[in-house]
Amino acid sequence: MKKISVIPGDGIGPEVIKAAVKVLDKACPKEFEFVYVSMGGNAIDKFGVPLPDESLKTCKESDATLLGAVGGAKWDSQPPENRPEKGLLKLRSGLEVFANIRPAKIFAPLASACPLRKDIAEKGIDFVIVRELTGGIYFGKHEFLDNNNSARDVMQYSRDEIKRIALVAFNAAMSRRKILTSVDKANVLSTSRLWREVINDVAKDFLEVKINHLYVDNASMQLIKAPSDFDVIVTENMFGDILSDEASQIVGSIGMIPSASLGENNRGLYEPIHGSAPDIAGQDKANPIGTILAAAMMLRYSFKMHSEADKIENSVNQVLNEGFRTPDIYTEGTKLISGSKMRDEIISRL
Ligand code: NAD
Repeated sequence: MKKISVIPGDGIGPEVIKAAVKVLDKACPKEFEFVYVSMGGNAIDKFGVPLPDESLKTCKESDATLLGAVGGAKWDSQPPENRPEKGLLKLRSGLEVFANIRPAKIFAPLASACPLRKDIAEKGIDFVIVRELTGGIYFGKHEFLDNNNSARDVMQYSRDEIKRIALVAFNAAMSRRKILTSVDKANVLSTSRLWREVINDVAKDFLEVKINHLYVDNASMQLIKAPSDFDVIVTENMFGDILSDEASQIVGSIGMIPSASLGENNRGLYEPIHGSAPDIAGQDKANPIGTILAAAMMLRYSFKMHSEADKIENSVNQVLNEGFRTPDIYTEGTKLISGSKMRDEIISRL
């Protein structure tokens, strides 16, 4: 039996995780042993830290980790090094998952939920963001100086860190439409100038891939103006964080998008891209589809169980085709249902 560490987390995390585990149980009966692990605000309450050593150890010993989301106002007053999000950063670096893959694809039945002009949405939107996940400004030194009158965050990248994420992105492009957009801020930042140099070096081994470089400010405009032009986007940690939230709105809702974080081995960390959504927690309004699709990504990337992953994605598509919608993707004329009903509709079609 394959062992999966499951981290429900805080807010809507436990609701969406329950849905994904039930879907996995139905799609792949008796394949997985689920081991529940504490992380986030609930771990601070119980153990005083956002990621207890025991939790990280369990995740490292598992074949894959499935995460809901962490955080919430209750823990906002924690010192910076003990906030729930710190647990997540520690987990990502502890598992050495440096490549975050975030697909942004518009499901045909959800075209009307796309906030862009109809002629833009109808061109088809299907791209993948490959975000560097364990380097850059989120992992640099953060400090207040001069009696709290100034502050500094350090952004640093090495050639090796850029090269390994570039390889993931070029290989992803090779398996798709062979168009790679590298996003940086090379007109201002030294890390971006190094980024561009390394991307161009790696490109010499992938001559079939058409490579474009965009500054991040321009990329954020082009994503709205012509999203169908994009195939694979590769970028550093913070730019990827911001652009993938933008992408989530283009395809309908942040509740729809899964992500896979991968390292040199196939172990992987799988999660929806949304946070703990305290504004809707406990109200059965959370869309579980992002987490369910993250579980499908886990089947593909960590276990090569492609037919089972297809089955899950087809069930999601079918339920959307039949007009079922959680509040975040509801439009007039469709059928409004709760998060748990969405989960059960998907399971009943597996
Ligand atoms: P968020 O993603 O939690 O919520 C943003 C908006 O999207 C909210 O209106 C929310 O209701 C909605 N939303 C999110 N997921 C949804 C879903 N599945 N279905 C329907 N609607 C959904 O972002 P936020 O409000 O900026 O952050 C809330 C907390 O989550 C904070 O503590 C933040 O630090 C944390 N956070 C955690 C992660 C993570 O665990 N990976 C990521 C981002 C934010």
